[in-house]
Amino acid sequence: MHRGIYVHLPFCPYICPYCDFAKWPHRRSAAQRYLQALYAEIDRAGETRPSGVFYETLFLGGGTPNTYAADDIARLVAHISRRLPGPEQRETTIEVNPELVSADDLPVYRDSGINRISIGVQSFVPEEIRTLGRRHTAQDVERVVRDCREAALSSVSLDLIFAVPGQTPQTWRRSLETAITLGVDHISTYGLTVEEGTPYQTWREREPGAFLDDSREADLYEIAIDMLEAAGYEQYEISNFAKPGHRSLHNANYWANGEYLGLGVGAASYVNGVRSVHTKDLETYVHAALEGAPVPAESEELEGAQRAGEAVMLALRTAQGVSLQAFKERYGLDFLDFYAPIVQLYRDDGLLEVDASHARLTRRGRFVANDVCAAFVTFA
Ligand code: SF4
Repeated sequence: MHRGIYVHLPFCPYICPYCDFAKWPHRRSAAQRYLQALYAEIDRAGETRPSGVFYETLFLGGGTPNTYAADDIARLVAHISRRLPGPEQRETTIEVNPELVSADDLPVYRDSGINRISIGVQSFVPEEIRTLGRRHTAQDVERVVRDCREAALSSVSLDLIFAVPGQTPQTWRRSLETAITLGVDHISTYGLTVEEGTPYQTWREREPGAFLDDSREADLYEIAIDMLEAAGYEQYEISNFAKPGHRSLHNANYWANGEYLGLGVGAASYVNGVRSVHTKDLETYVHAALEGAPVPAESEELEGAQRAGEAVMLALRTAQGVSLQAFKERYGLDFLDFYAPIVQLYRDDGLLEVDASHARLTRRGRFVANDVCAAFVTFA
């Protein structure tokens, strides 16, 4: 079975107004203390690791991991590799903010074992970048992609956001075209969600007309699918497109309902059928980890139909869909019998298709994936 490790590095050079991740403005002393806490948590996880357990992928996410110096990152990766071993060529990803990447960082990343870089671009259109509260330029991104190639990093990915206030089909096409022209290996496209308690929520309450409605958002999503597929990117998941050989194994493991170990403040884990999320309080996390104590977390053990429903939700996000055979073997349930009423409903609506081996969302189904998936999770 595949297992992944996710490490949360929560500091950012500034805070984006739409963000609801666990994140804090960067301060050197707090960031260094956090790193010590992380080392302690890694040591503890290493001591309690059942023998024979290996981790095939490692993902450094955030926050903005590259608020840390490249040497700090290299030491962290080396420490994780010692305590939580995996294959020699483990897929190791780092998320970066393009304006903070220097050409000298990239060989350091590469030599530490990092082989995937995920650049938080969001848009190539200056007004949209400003609306999102980001400060990089399109030139920063072009420079980083070029430097990644020179440093021979094997996979370069970009994140883009659609349904940004003020975005039009023309500006969205411009961002997609620029990403395609840069020749990156992987592109993730996320529809903007307005999260509770963020400055964006206040903005939407004040000026709802500034935000795109569902139908305009669906149009932009369709543009992305058409342009990226035409450019040779396979849509292997609702939000993810890859050139051949460049799918994210780490994320594929989430969608296959595989196990993962989350380290750091607010990090989520799924181990032995138990989902847990670490405290999102920075001081509580740091204090517990430095004490060598278990990090306070909320956990939930999924059982029976609930566990199966979660697996369906995750698998339906992928292009391949739910394997009927694998589902039966893993959960002891016949997918088509067990979910007969909703399968029928969504097939009739043209949102779900079923062949001899798989059930998957149709193209139309991908636009309402959240609703369809939710129906499987709550069905019991
Ligand atoms: S860089 Fe990412 S994690 Fe940091 S504030 Fe912006 S969206 Fe949130």
